[in-house]
Amino acid sequence: MNERPPHFPPGTRITDLFTVEGLVRLAEGRMFYLVNDHRPDVPHRRCWECGTSTTPRSSAQCLGCGAAFRDRRFLMSSRWVRERFDAYEKFARRQLSHQGIAWPVEVIRQDDQLLSIVPYNGEGLMVDEASPLPADRVLNLAMRLTGTVAFLIVNGVRLAGLTRANLLISPDGTVRLYDLEVQSVQDDPLPEDERRDIVAAIAELLRRYCDVEAEPIARFFEEFEASGALPTLFGREVESRYDAFAALPARGNIAAMTDVGLTRQLNEDFWGWRRLSDRSALFVVADGMGGHDGGEIASSLAVQTICRVAGHREATAPPPVEAMENLLDEAFQSANNTVKEQAESKGSDMGTTLVSMLVIDDRVAFLANVGDSRAYLLRNGSLHQLTRDHSLVAKMVERGRLTAEEARHHPHSNILLRTVGTERDVEIDIFKVELEVNDRLLMCSDGLWGEVEDRDMEAILNTYDDLRLATRELVRASHHGGGKDNVTLVLYQVPA
Ligand code: CA
Repeated sequence: MNERPPHFPPGTRITDLFTVEGLVRLAEGRMFYLVNDHRPDVPHRRCWECGTSTTPRSSAQCLGCGAAFRDRRFLMSSRWVRERFDAYEKFARRQLSHQGIAWPVEVIRQDDQLLSIVPYNGEGLMVDEASPLPADRVLNLAMRLTGTVAFLIVNGVRLAGLTRANLLISPDGTVRLYDLEVQSVQDDPLPEDERRDIVAAIAELLRRYCDVEAEPIARFFEEFEASGALPTLFGREVESRYDAFAALPARGNIAAMTDVGLTRQLNEDFWGWRRLSDRSALFVVADGMGGHDGGEIASSLAVQTICRVAGHREATAPPPVEAMENLLDEAFQSANNTVKEQAESKGSDMGTTLVSMLVIDDRVAFLANVGDSRAYLLRNGSLHQLTRDHSLVAKMVERGRLTAEEARHHPHSNILLRTVGTERDVEIDIFKVELEVNDRLLMCSDGLWGEVEDRDMEAILNTYDDLRLATRELVRASHHGGGKDNVTLVLYQVPA
């Protein structure tokens, strides 16, 4: 995969139209900038209402339509993997008008990058939104995405995928598609058999914004993800269940987020949660390794397998609390075998860390881990690490050969002694915690704890009552720490 190019510094001129204000966000395969149309060096200015570009800069009004000029700001995305440049340009030339799409006013090639520029009016990026969203927001998003994607399909636009990086949130909360990953554009509507993948992508995206309490919606999306039924049908089904689904409870006591970080191009982390029964819920974080077509597959497979196996076990014969350790062990072994089989069939050395938390009756938690993704407990304002890392440096610290601080910066800090998917059997550590009201449990990949000191994580957790805000701030802190790795975290609070 091509390297991420250096970013444009503030003041960089983009054609005769724009000036870069600054880089605002990095995402997988993208850089996002704020730009404006303040260009005193250019004698004429473009009117964004009618397109006239011959009005002298000194004039206060457009010569074409008479509109008053005002300074405008824009959001500019840059991509640099060239294979889909032509398709995106062809798509942009179509000028399809749809309220669900933020249409580019300009698409420009500069310095081997493709720049797509849309008007900016205070929109936010979905990549900054932690899960879960309230059920009604998920449902509105579902209908919005379905309608817009159906429109694209009818107009022959084939998307290579759809992720939250493609979603722009207006200040009033409406979401528009933006900066799409267009595979190709044709004159005729896409054939039915090619609609499956995009429906699966929408369903998966939505499922990850569902609260663990909103299990029926998550299951519904899961079924659609598997069936790949037409987007219009998907939309109608969502609509017909809207009232029932929107009434599902949310307790506001969980949050999760994953982010690619500031330097990696691929996010190999994954997280998941699942309600197993009336009594119990499972939360998982995985940090995959093995590069493209490896790490991200290992981590998602491991999370999906552990959730499925634990869910099945709990549904068929819920074990007594004492036997929860066996349930976790069994689920980890299944995840291990699944990833290992996949690795062997692909001839890949993929593997993953895995940390999971089984919460029963909001009263007791069983934590299990393999590798160096961690679980922490925040109790009475102090943060305690619950898990032990299965890493070379952790072993050296245990033996007194390194300090914790030296371990953090050690050149071999990434060497793991145990991972999921690399050996026939995997040995897991299990910790049991008797929970107290307002305890917070945090599970995270090393992209968080490697970039943010424990005391800073503790300060953030103590500052934000809202778990989604705390989650977002922890991700921000990892960026400030350097953002050298993917970062993923799941946060749970014992309700009062
Ligand atoms: Ca990592």
